[in-house]
Amino acid sequence: MTTFAELDLIEPIQRALAELEYTTPTPIQLQAIPPLLDGRDVLGVAQTGTGKTAAFTVPVLQFLDEVRPARRRIRALVLTPTRELASQIGESINVYGKYLDIKQTVIFGGVKQGSQVRILRSGIDILVATPGRLLDLQGQGHIDLSFVEFLILDEADRMLDMGFIHDLKKILRLLPRERQNLLFSATMPNSIKKLASEWLYEPVHVEVAPQATTVERIEQHIMFTEKSDKHRLLAHLLKTEEIDMALVFTRTKHGANRVVKKLDQQGIDAAAIHGNKSQNARERALKAFKTGRISVLVATDVASRGIDIDGVSHVFNFDLPNESETYVHRIGRTGRAGADGIAISFCDDTEGGYLRDIERLTGVPLSPDLDHPYHRHEAIPDPRASGGVKKPAGMQQRGGRGGGGRGGGGRGRGGGRGRGGGGGRGGRR
Ligand code: AMP
Repeated sequence: MTTFAELDLIEPIQRALAELEYTTPTPIQLQAIPPLLDGRDVLGVAQTGTGKTAAFTVPVLQFLDEVRPARRRIRALVLTPTRELASQIGESINVYGKYLDIKQTVIFGGVKQGSQVRILRSGIDILVATPGRLLDLQGQGHIDLSFVEFLILDEADRMLDMGFIHDLKKILRLLPRERQNLLFSATMPNSIKKLASEWLYEPVHVEVAPQATTVERIEQHIMFTEKSDKHRLLAHLLKTEEIDMALVFTRTKHGANRVVKKLDQQGIDAAAIHGNKSQNARERALKAFKTGRISVLVATDVASRGIDIDGVSHVFNFDLPNESETYVHRIGRTGRAGADGIAISFCDDTEGGYLRDIERLTGVPLSPDLDHPYHRHEAIPDPRASGGVKKPAGMQQRGGRGGGGRGGGGRGRGGGRGRGGGGGRGGRR
């Protein structure tokens, strides 16, 4: 088994990783760290939870430590779609670089810029930023990107989804041509391939945990219920299941607030994070969840993107997402870094189509779980049958205990497959 020492990491980084009890590199780290240390550009397909942050942070830290200019200036730029993801990357840099004299800061919109500007003025080596605020501060003369040696685009697909393409293009024009690039994306649509072909130089392609594999290590359940029963069903499950930490997804901000209110009426403490909440309120909610003060966090998809929370035992899809890829992103929030998790989805009579799409994408038919008091009787037989999806084996008639039950999903993580890119320029510029 390859260790971090065998990856030629310097001692202070190894020490920091050892303190975190990271004994072996994850597949994405094994694939991405060596080419990055060789100075190659890397194009990676990896979702949050695979260890991708360390995969790019560690080589960048190692290079920055190697050569120390007389004055600190921004030599590595990390672009991310959301403030939460930016904050988490900032924290990770601090942790992995604990024994190095490298300074980073994180900038994002929605908060006053004063303290961000002060830190920028004091001199930093790594800047983690969301595109809008970066351009804002650059336009005001607070940021000089002309010394950037490393560009990292994290969750690039999401940045494009969120409409950042024009900002990204503007940022690109501010960077030196000679730099090492890394692009991570959870999915690889044509728009990302095009971006990569323009921004990256003969990248090494790395890929881990194709979506179906990620999905397979999560135990998945589907519960057919009336829309009006969803709140009661959620409260029932939160009270009866063995739940350490539950992340509940709703389609709308209003829906998230309603869930929190209804749970509160049932004596269950929960908090919501979504776009209408202030940054402070979101951070408070996240902290309460991470520290265990509350065990239920209710989120919309955009707000939850990139949030790194260890120990989520259950993901609830209160509403099924209308894009099936979102389902994969959501349930990937449990069962992180090799651990198994449980995903429970509610499906009302308007959501059968979404369910069909999800099953088509993941290739995993979901057995209905009838082991709850709020099942929707007419849902049996399965509304999906009309869509040609195979009726899951073991499914029983109304009122019986469902096939599937607990203990479904297959195990095992997908090994990555790496392939070298083109010739390359040989070593780091
Ligand atoms: P990421 O995909 O970067 O969000 O990382 C997911 C989680 O895995 C984070 O909580 C990391 O702290 C953790 N992690 C990253 N690398 C390792 C490793 N080599 N061994 C164990 N845990 C890790």
